[in-house]
Amino acid sequence: MTANDNFPERNSIVIDSKPIQYIIRKSKRAKHLQLQINSNAMLEVVVPIRRNIPFPYIEKFLLEKKRWILRNVQKAEEIARKAREKSNYILFLGREVPIEIIESERKRATAKPGAGRLIVKVPIGRKDLAKRAIRAFYKKFARSILERLVREKASEMNLSFSRISVRSNKMQWGSCSPRKVLSFSWRLIAAPQAVVEYIVVHELAHIQHNNHSKAFWRTVQKYCPDYKKYERWLRKHGDLIKARTNFNG
Ligand SMILES: [Zn+2]
Repeated sequence: MTANDNFPERNSIVIDSKPIQYIIRKSKRAKHLQLQINSNAMLEVVVPIRRNIPFPYIEKFLLEKKRWILRNVQKAEEIARKAREKSNYILFLGREVPIEIIESERKRATAKPGAGRLIVKVPIGRKDLAKRAIRAFYKKFARSILERLVREKASEMNLSFSRISVRSNKMQWGSCSPRKVLSFSWRLIAAPQAVVEYIVVHELAHIQHNNHSKAFWRTVQKYCPDYKKYERWLRKHGDLIKARTNFNG
């Protein structure tokens, strides 16, 4: 048994008279102590397992990082609050679409668009299944929208790709493998279509340039002249998009 095994899972520290809850997460990969805000707006301290870091050192580290912590915890709480306020809507291609949950005599939960809203049908007494159905709806529509956009943009840019993969990634909106497999996070589909198109152009441009060189950005600009605006949009609203597409639990 090492000292690390004695770490409490949940803890709290008072910073500028504000009690801050945090979770300690042990990591095999981490090399140093790291701070993160998880998708539930909770502060996480990532502790490398391979280094025996004594608990008082962690508290000292948290106090050293108090500005970062206060700023980011506050930001995350604000985003979580905004997401809760909109829990009766889904964000789809930049539009707020109302959700209507209907209990029905069926075994499975489904979510389908209808009359300007998302109709979610759940078995009687099983409203808890709505989130899962909405998540499935996003994935399905993300795939069809992204497949269409990638085909359109690839032909416009005169590039070929091997296939598209749609994932649940929260850290990356898209990526392009050396084998020309384009991967996208289905969460991207909550963003306005122009932003989705920019990410598609960005990943396709990586087929030609496996880097972020000037030549790469010239290609992006040629097919998406306003790309800088969309980059800024994603930086500004990315966390909210992630919060609005968090259907776990
Ligand atoms: Zn890139």
